Amino acid sequence: MLYTLNDAGYQAYIVGGAVRDLLLDKLPKDFDVATDATPEQVKAEFRRARIIGRRFRIVHVTMGREIIEVSTFRAANTDSVEIQGETLARSVKHIESAHSNSGMILRDNVYGTLEEDVVRRDFTINALYYTVRKFVVHDYVNGMADLQARQLRMIGDPEQRYREDPVRILRAIRLSAKLGFSIEANTAAPIKPLAELLESIPSARLFDEILKLFFAGSSLITFDLLHEYNVFKYLFPASAVELENNDTAEKLLRQAFTSTDQRIRDLKSVTPAFLLAAILWPALQKLYFINLNRKMPPIVAMHQAAQDVINEQISRISIPKRFSIPMREIWEFQLRLPRLSRANSTITHKRFRAAYDFVLLREQAGENLNGLGKWWTDFQEADKNQREHILASSRSSGGGSRHSKSGRRKVKSQ
Ligand code: ATP
Ligand code: MG
Repeated sequence: MLYTLNDAGYQAYIVGGAVRDLLLDKLPKDFDVATDATPEQVKAEFRRARIIGRRFRIVHVTMGREIIEVSTFRAANTDSVEIQGETLARSVKHIESAHSNSGMILRDNVYGTLEEDVVRRDFTINALYYTVRKFVVHDYVNGMADLQARQLRMIGDPEQRYREDPVRILRAIRLSAKLGFSIEANTAAPIKPLAELLESIPSARLFDEILKLFFAGSSLITFDLLHEYNVFKYLFPASAVELENNDTAEKLLRQAFTSTDQRIRDLKSVTPAFLLAAILWPALQKLYFINLNRKMPPIVAMHQAAQDVINEQISRISIPKRFSIPMREIWEFQLRLPRLSRANSTITHKRFRAAYDFVLLREQAGENLNGLGKWWTDFQEADKNQREHILASSRSSGGGSRHSKSGRRKVKSQ
């Protein structure tokens, strides 16, 4: 890859997370390449390459089973950025003919030099450039020293860089959790005061970031950091309120993150629907109650609460339908699982497994569901005859609604 570009007369470097992870003896998730070739020039050099993106035009080059992202050196947003007293960014080399209707140059299509590409990156450890010309790593911002000190340091003025792109707040927390690195004091200081800028980020981009935050195997640490830096409340406002005055809520979330991390370690599947259902459960429960007290029937109360919680949440972080629909089903099944007389049909439903896991999660967090999880565990393990027996004895000990009544009472009493 790098050789092909070099042979064609271009500069080419592996950059970003891959260099960082290799230097830390970790397996990189993916490879990013930076070059002075334009997207068209890159595309011309590879057989399986396509240009993607409108604002950020990059080239996806397929090599074997990997897709490598190749981006052309980009200029920093500002004309120059001071680094350690030295002005690195200089002239803009090439301006792509991309203008908005008003004639404004779309800054992301302004190509620059290697030095400019360095200073538009976020942290020093992400700005190491590996080249096969002499096999060296170029380090313009003391990234190696920070890598050794195991810390994240923002390139340039941290406050200004967070203001330019508040998602960098989430990236600092994510990388700190993932790598076990500290956030250097000046880089950490503006996070709390600026966290509210996250409200201005489009909800679709936040959804992408949430996936990266919670599905990289260190979601529990990430959650703690989001809390510590006062960021969580800008992502999940309703849940944050519940966390403040409800111990069970906090236990439930921590348990959900713990088991997500564990499943990732065990290479088991994880779905955002389940985790989001857990994160929003305390807020949902509260509304559910309010609705019950307004004399709504339980199913209606749950349905309405789910609607309201999701609507509020998606104004902040978009949740695609393919996740929000199963989320609602998991919640609505929390009313169906206690209706033991229907167990034979409930167990065949495609959402049963997730709903059952959710019951276990609630119990682990300290909700008293009168042994509902154990009942379902036994029922699943039983053969056909034993199931009949279990159902019969449930009927005789207070009918199939034993769990549903107590379950509901428990919810009310919280
Ligand atoms: P991961 O290993 O999780 O992929 P990464 O650092 O490679 O982490 P990417 O999202 O793949 O993260 O981004 C690749 C590189 O692009 C980063 O290392 C960084 O140099 C740069 N970058 C990404 N997002 C930003 C941003 N919001 N601001 C500045 N630079 C960024
Ligand atoms: Mg990466």
